[in-house]
Amino acid sequence: MQIKFYNTLTKEKQEFIPLNKEEITMYSCGPTVYKDATIGNMRTNIFMDTLRRTLKYNGYKLKHVMNITDVGHLVSDADEGEDKMIKSAKEEGKTPLEIAEHYTNLFMKDLERLNIDLPEIICKATDNIKEMIEYVEELVKNGYAYETSTAIYFDVSKLDKYGILSGINLDDQKAGARVDIDEEKRNPYDFALWIKAPENHLMKWESPWGLSYPGWHIECSTMGRKYLGEQFDIHTGGVDLIPTHHENEIAQSKGCTGKIPARYWMHGEFLLINGGKMSKSLNNVYLIEDIVKRGYSPLAYKIFCFTSHYRNKLNFTWEGIDVADKSLTRLKDAYVKHTEGEDSMSQEEIQNYKERFLSAINDDLNMPVAMSIVWEVAKNAKKSKQLADVLLDFDKVLGLNIDKKEEKTQDIPSDILELVDMRKKARDNKDWAESDRLRDLIKEKGYIVKDSKEGTTIEKM
Ligand code: AMP
Ligand code: ZN
Repeated sequence: MQIKFYNTLTKEKQEFIPLNKEEITMYSCGPTVYKDATIGNMRTNIFMDTLRRTLKYNGYKLKHVMNITDVGHLVSDADEGEDKMIKSAKEEGKTPLEIAEHYTNLFMKDLERLNIDLPEIICKATDNIKEMIEYVEELVKNGYAYETSTAIYFDVSKLDKYGILSGINLDDQKAGARVDIDEEKRNPYDFALWIKAPENHLMKWESPWGLSYPGWHIECSTMGRKYLGEQFDIHTGGVDLIPTHHENEIAQSKGCTGKIPARYWMHGEFLLINGGKMSKSLNNVYLIEDIVKRGYSPLAYKIFCFTSHYRNKLNFTWEGIDVADKSLTRLKDAYVKHTEGEDSMSQEEIQNYKERFLSAINDDLNMPVAMSIVWEVAKNAKKSKQLADVLLDFDKVLGLNIDKKEEKTQDIPSDILELVDMRKKARDNKDWAESDRLRDLIKEKGYIVKDSKEGTTIEKM
């Protein structure tokens, strides 16, 4: 059956035709491992997982790469400010390597809890420094890059067109939409490929331009080409990556190989919290860990994400997670009832369900429609082993472990969870006295808070 994906490059839903039908090649921009991954980040990873599983369900083999950014992502995506890894290391009193390891482990734990199918290749930026230097050298040689006293910049005016993904017009923007920090930049949209390290900079490598470190965008272009070649099938990421990071990846590839690196660019929309942005200053940043701590299955979050198409914004509420958690239990119960059933179904009925499910997922991963078919099967008044098998087959795409008994964490009362939340905020603000006071208060109420490398857990005494 035909597969259609919305392609940000052409702004159209297009039939997916792979370069090589024996193996789909795909690249996903992975996390910058300097802080906890939020449920927003995880929405984008769930989208990536659904895409992987849908391609596999259609019989394709995958070669999928995801990078781990452990250097070079500056505080502003437009290459300004401090390196996020170093800033976090200073704040937490650790080395950048320790920070990277710690947050990579937490990220991988979340992928596991969400039953996310792992990319075939997961690669770290710091393991690919030599290849990145070579890439920058090629861009210099091809006349697309120039050196200033602080960095090697990509010269966007050398391209016939910069901005094909986001549709920005360089002429409209020249009046100074971006703040120019480096006076030596030739054009406001020029971006750093390689950055010269100031003295005492924590992460730096020998290069033809002295001790220095990579820009964020060059990492993905380099690892994409290294593992997948000059052109591959699909490139994914969150919508925030369209105007800068992905635009710059395309610019680099065009400067180096003359090609746009991927044929289909797919982007996941943002998760909102109470209709707005998730941010530290609003105290509304939630993690998968927070969902687990409230006694919900992490997979309830996956069901919650399936209520909306990946290209639509989705509003997170705790009521929504509560409903999703109950839905997960109902789905598992329905599966068990079908396994015990004796009714027999006609092949037409089974085939009809399967075809409709396949046409929903192949229609640009339409999970709300796919889930409506899952529920039709689950709620079928006839109880049949054949329907249990259909659900199990659909679960290859959903990844909800519907045949496994739920491993719920203990139910922790909401007043305790609120105190735990307050303590986390106190710790984030390094208010240790308040954190200790709250720990004692939680203890008085019969619960013990334990902090470990993996995060905080609460246990009944
Ligand atoms: P960050 O760690 O904030 O740079 O985010 C890593 C990636 O996760 C981003 O580039 C986005 O693609 C994605 N992301 C961040 N916040 C959200 C959100 N609220 N909803 C969906 N995806 C997000
Ligand atoms: Zn990337």
